[in-house]
Amino acid sequence: MGGAKRLWMEEEERRWGTIDKCVCEACLDTPDLWRMLTAKIRNGVCDYCELEGLPVLPVHEVQVQLYKAIFTYYADPQHAGTPWVDGQWGVKQIDIEDVLAELDFLPVDELAEDIASADRTQLWIKAAHGHWAGVQDDELMLYSWSTFVRTVKHQTRFHFQRIVPERLEDEIPVSEMLRVVAENLANLLTTVAVGTRIYRARHLSQDELARIDASLMGPPPKEHAGAGRMNPAGIPYFYSAFDPRTAVVEIGDPSEDNKALAAAAFQVDRILNVVDLSKLPAVPPALAIDRRRERVTAKFLRKFVESITQKVQKDGREHVDYVPSQVVCEYMAQAYVMPNGQTIDGIIYPSAVSPDGINLVIFPSGRWFEQDKFPDITYLGPA
Ligand SMILES: [Zn+2]
Repeated sequence: MGGAKRLWMEEEERRWGTIDKCVCEACLDTPDLWRMLTAKIRNGVCDYCELEGLPVLPVHEVQVQLYKAIFTYYADPQHAGTPWVDGQWGVKQIDIEDVLAELDFLPVDELAEDIASADRTQLWIKAAHGHWAGVQDDELMLYSWSTFVRTVKHQTRFHFQRIVPERLEDEIPVSEMLRVVAENLANLLTTVAVGTRIYRARHLSQDELARIDASLMGPPPKEHAGAGRMNPAGIPYFYSAFDPRTAVVEIGDPSEDNKALAAAAFQVDRILNVVDLSKLPAVPPALAIDRRRERVTAKFLRKFVESITQKVQKDGREHVDYVPSQVVCEYMAQAYVMPNGQTIDGIIYPSAVSPDGINLVIFPSGRWFEQDKFPDITYLGPA
């Protein structure tokens, strides 16, 4: 077989023809591709802006890297098990220009045109793992979480062994989901420093207002602890905010007219290990396929935080809507152990009602806190 024929077959196989040009960083204008191809950078001439003596990449190296991303999210319909219906593909086709745009590959026009015309497929379909019906890892996480949410709200709350996946056979089993959520949350571990001030608010009667103290402003005793966003009924958590305004907005309007609003400051007396849901990692671009794992995690964390911090109508249904976050919190409080062997003391989460407001909920974890007391939190006084 001649060299030309062999090259043609190779190009057919990989679905693109080689472009024998070089491109500089500015004309490529895709920082993730430039970063992933650092080892291939050389000194030369850019064929697009015609500048000389600057770092450039051979365009065929860009193509190699680019097609790794294309094949992660798309496939040639001929090789993806695509259904053929009434003389055409039964799945929407996407032309190569749109594929490049969807991947945020937006270099100088001439390079985008070169790459599009060297493409041997031209009409692609969305696919995962090379199959039109495949599911991307990030979607799989979200499906699995929504199955978990539905299960703990409406099917079973404590024992998941007999739950079978409903929609997708490779969904993460409900029984595994808490462990997987914890693994993802481990990316967000941080500490709250000794001396940090935190605030709580309550509606008090005039009588109570006159004798405001730690027991009035702290969490209720366990006999009176109702269910909250993060805690199951009967297990009091220490809800607080990092500023008094958020603490006040969080408790809403008083249910009785004769009650007045009171806020108090507390101080953290020992370092707290917490999961910080208020600072989520940025989602890496789809083209950065070396950061695919991070992308899946970041997308999941966003959805997870949105789901457990959403505004909930307090019409009785909150007792069901709060269940998924309660189950996750109890798992983090009671079962999760950090890589260094320590346990988690609480969760920082954005306020659902106060923009920019940040909350801190502290668990009554057995080792440090007595069952319904929080000895490492000191009452400072009204705020
Ligand atoms: Zn250039």
